[in-house]
Amino acid sequence: LDIPENPIIPIIHGDGIGKDVGPAAQKVLSAAAEATGHDIAWMRVYAGESGREKYDENLPEDTVNAIDEFRVAIKGPLTTPVGAGFRSLNVALRQTLDFYANVRPTYYLDGVPSPMKAPEEMDMVTFRENTEDVYAGIEWEEGTDEVEQVREFVEDEMGFDEVMHDGPIGIGIKPITEKGSKRLVRKAIDYALEHDRDKVTLVHKGNIMKFTEGQFSEWGMEVAEEEYPDDEVFAAPDSLWETQEDIDIPEGAVMVEERLADAMLQWMQLRTDEFDIMAMPNLNGDYLSDAAGAQIGGLGIAPGANFGDARVLAEPVHGSAPKRAGQDQANPTALMLSGCLMFDYMGWKDAGDLVKDAVEETISSGTVTYDLERNLDDAEKVSTTEFAEAVIE
Ligand code: NAD
Repeated sequence: LDIPENPIIPIIHGDGIGKDVGPAAQKVLSAAAEATGHDIAWMRVYAGESGREKYDENLPEDTVNAIDEFRVAIKGPLTTPVGAGFRSLNVALRQTLDFYANVRPTYYLDGVPSPMKAPEEMDMVTFRENTEDVYAGIEWEEGTDEVEQVREFVEDEMGFDEVMHDGPIGIGIKPITEKGSKRLVRKAIDYALEHDRDKVTLVHKGNIMKFTEGQFSEWGMEVAEEEYPDDEVFAAPDSLWETQEDIDIPEGAVMVEERLADAMLQWMQLRTDEFDIMAMPNLNGDYLSDAAGAQIGGLGIAPGANFGDARVLAEPVHGSAPKRAGQDQANPTALMLSGCLMFDYMGWKDAGDLVKDAVEETISSGTVTYDLERNLDDAEKVSTTEFAEAVIE
């Protein structure tokens, strides 16, 4: 990414445990940048609770404009209040600035407790479509005209009793577009090529949802077939029904295959070493990446970032964990490792690797926060602040 030598990086510490992990991660990222000869000018920006306090707005324009202008930013979690009338701030931010790919790497750090037999085999990256699907927020409650129209339509066209129960209904729409699917899959393939990965797996439920998830997979295969030479990217559209050994892949090419989403949750855990990069619609990606995160230590560890065209907004997979908020207990690793993704995208791989190594060394030496300590025998439980200090040390 073409950015200035001393970039300005907007940072939202976040709600709930964001107040703990935000400052802790910021210190570690500054220290890593400094140690590798880079210089960051942080710009605190506000959203969620801090947005309401400073601007009387959940998502102030200044925050959106700063992320838009400086193109590289990082955020902690934001709380979505439960109840009608609240749109998720995270979704709003991703949609407003068109961060269309949510990228979540899942790799094992030495010393982390894991339920898997061979967690070190896990090294996957999920590319989750970030703007469409049932998360687009197009839904209506009983009593609205829209629900009435759908009811009438279903009654006339399909025979109501055959497809829905009588009584109150909630209706949601699942938009999946060609543009949204293709740019997501393109991003995943480009990432695979840049990072020397072998395979991109399209994960969908197209056998049931033919015109949405089925189309996602067809459009994704079209990208693989039409936009790259065969010896670089090899599309395997029949891979659902064939075993991998039966497919003749040109040597060195990235294979683009497909798997059904429900089975994938199983394969991911039983045949971890077979998967590499995975690209999928929004809802599948949310579930699958949380489940993958659990295999390598849970949400306190799992990093993420939102990619757009020439811009990145790093953010951990986890939420604001209100129960632990403000107690200096939460694990800042996920936000620190999200910073690594941001550094990587900026071309500061040296700074990212340093953070990753330091975090791994800290955890494997037995210095951990509460979430990891409860599954380890000989570990010392430390606070968020102490953990960050140990990583910097
Ligand atoms: P959550 O991720 O906040 O918490 C789930 C569980 O994981 C809790 O037990 C929590 O204690 C634990 N956990 C999460 N992060 C941790 C960390 N860093 N260290 C140690 N333990 C950690 O999910 P939730 O409870 O479903 O959601 C709480 C709020 O967060 C909701 O308002 C939700 O909308 C919001 N949320 C925001 C984002 C985001 O900002 N991108 C993502 C998910 C949820």
